[in-house]
Amino acid sequence: MAKAKGYSDETLSVRLADRYYRPEESSDDFLENVEKISMTIPHMCYQCGTCTGSCPSAPRSSYRIRKFVRRAVLGLENDALTDPDLWLCTTCYSCTDRCPRDIAPTDVIMAMRNLAFKREIVPRNFLNTVQFIYKTGHGVPNNDVNRAARVRLGLEAEPETTAKYPDFIPGIQKILDHYGLKDKADEILAEGQ
Ligand code: SF4
Ligand code: SF4
Repeated sequence: MAKAKGYSDETLSVRLADRYYRPEESSDDFLENVEKISMTIPHMCYQCGTCTGSCPSAPRSSYRIRKFVRRAVLGLENDALTDPDLWLCTTCYSCTDRCPRDIAPTDVIMAMRNLAFKREIVPRNFLNTVQFIYKTGHGVPNNDVNRAARVRLGLEAEPETTAKYPDFIPGIQKILDHYGLKDKADEILAEGQ
């Protein structure tokens, strides 16, 4: 939780950022929002570390699921949502399987990713997937190489999905439009060009 010290130099501000935790600088509703979205109970965490000990991403990175659960409890919204490690969870659910407090840390991460997206903090591959689904109904659409392989296997070139029945695509687009997802994805991708 950085406290502004008024350095005019940005590099200095980053290097000398205040590392103290100050309760008054926590977000009041972060824990509440995370619990509402995730439908789990991070406030019951007693920091045993079983989740991080189960995590396949932890040995290869600085990602620590236990730290994210702590940030939820302490209302450290900015720290959590702007941390690039937020996107290293594979959603394998090992932590959820093993937590002795019946918390689903995986779903805490999913809730935080939702909140980060609302602040336009999101890796580009998620946005590309939104665009594919909007256009084809598939996150991984069919292509000519696979069509030829399917025919060689005695299958129809297109599977029994929106690939064969594109009339269903507008229905999918309506769902994405309801949440403004496609427009948001286009907008963020265009900004990053
Ligand atoms: S396993 Fe559960 S109780 Fe233990 S640190 Fe992780 S979230 Fe908290
Ligand atoms: S669900 Fe995510 S945080 Fe939990 S163990 Fe798997 S990779 Fe780690």
